[in-house]
Amino acid sequence: MKGYEVYESEEKKKGWARVSWYPIPGERVEVDKQLEEKVLAARSRAYVPYSHFPVGAVAVDQAGHTYSGANVENASYPLGMCAERVALFKLVTESTHAPQALYVIGDTEGPISPCGACRQVMVELCPPEMPVYLGNVRGEWIETTVAALLPGAFTDRDLG
Ligand SMILES: [Zn+2]
Repeated sequence: MKGYEVYESEEKKKGWARVSWYPIPGERVEVDKQLEEKVLAARSRAYVPYSHFPVGAVAVDQAGHTYSGANVENASYPLGMCAERVALFKLVTESTHAPQALYVIGDTEGPISPCGACRQVMVELCPPEMPVYLGNVRGEWIETTVAALLPGAFTDRDLG
């Protein structure tokens, strides 16, 4: 697959199709330094004794208020929660305004990629054209949108 990197693993040899990198549609941008500091500060609050992979997120509402999140893990692994969802759930439960932007940061080679569950939650709670800023700790950021991150998303329309 052009643009994708296939992970050469034991699983692949057994026939599992593992892909280690999917390109994210988006433009390289500079982000506001104050917001970058906020999302880095959010990342510093991650609880990651198992993965040692802290992620920070900041959701911004239409009044400009910010809601920070970080990933929180558990010894029962599936109970952990991603930074993006912590930030968005805080906004939804604490703000009287809709979200207008989301920033996410991690120590990744390129800008961090939100997981599928977080993309689905973005589709539920955010406008499709809302900007999502994905970065890494070296200050490399791309701007994408909620809709671009999850084409063909499952929505309430699909419930009939
Ligand atoms: Zn996630």
